[in-house]
Amino acid sequence: MPDALKRPTQYADFADPQALPRYAGISTFFRTPHTETLEDADIGVIGVPFDGGVTNRSGARHGPRAVREQSSLLRRYNGATGFRPFEAARVRDLGDCWIERPYALETAQAEIVSFYQMIVAAGVVPLSVGGDHSISLPILRAVAERRPVGMIHIDAHCDTGGDYMGSKLHHGAPFSRSVDEGLLDPARVIQIGIRGTTNDPDLWSFSRQSGMRVLPMDEVQDKGWQYAVEEAHRVAGNGPLYLSFDIDGLDPSQAPGTGTPEAGGLTMREALRILRGLRGLDFVGADLVEVAPSFDPGTLTAFNGASVLFELLCLLAEARAKRA
Ligand code: MN
Ligand code: MN
Repeated sequence: MPDALKRPTQYADFADPQALPRYAGISTFFRTPHTETLEDADIGVIGVPFDGGVTNRSGARHGPRAVREQSSLLRRYNGATGFRPFEAARVRDLGDCWIERPYALETAQAEIVSFYQMIVAAGVVPLSVGGDHSISLPILRAVAERRPVGMIHIDAHCDTGGDYMGSKLHHGAPFSRSVDEGLLDPARVIQIGIRGTTNDPDLWSFSRQSGMRVLPMDEVQDKGWQYAVEEAHRVAGNGPLYLSFDIDGLDPSQAPGTGTPEAGGLTMREALRILRGLRGLDFVGADLVEVAPSFDPGTLTAFNGASVLFELLCLLAEARAKRA
């Protein structure tokens, strides 16, 4: 019996799954090896297919599969920066943190905390794909368990809300809870791309009152992506940082596949420049959330999400190399 049914015979480079033609092979994040052990991983890409915290249009539980599939379109090197994330770190697809009891938000979040505590204890840097934004709170409970972290947060919404229909754990409130629990240092948090209509005229008062820097979309547009980068560096400083990217921070023309779209957002060009401008910061974890494939005609949102995810991977790998 052969130990593999199909081996490359013409092109030795194809032995690397990332060098295979991009339409071939099994979908894993960036065509990296799938493993559920942690010994040979430096950075773990993890799907969190959970959308039990959504307040309106659901479907982000299907995000990880769609982003995995589209991430196979990306190649090994960052063409803009020259960075080679897969040479800088052992990147592995750690599979999904799927939720065993998805109908109870509190225990679902406890399951996510337990999963990420194992990742953090093994010294693996987590790069997560949601799922709705409520998953960032339990991830931060593990990542920031020993000391608070700062955060670069790109989103149309501040997600620093309070009680809504009897819960404070929905996807519009992970970062107020994170401050309450001492996981985030609000003085080192910047929220970029904020916009949209609200029912409460002061919906995001928690952000300003706690000392976060809120950078509304209009200010980004008026002063440019370079200003957003400068402000991010000024606010974040030198300490450990988390990066949370809600796909609805992008304009709906480029990311229609999401539950809570808001008109007039970042273009992919601006988002990529902002992310690349964050090189040098000490990122210890990141997530991409709120991709909802059922609203995504033609996989555009998942593809742009995968493209954002690649930049997040580069930031994590570069920060990890700098610490080591
Ligand atoms: Mn949002
Ligand atoms: Mn959000």
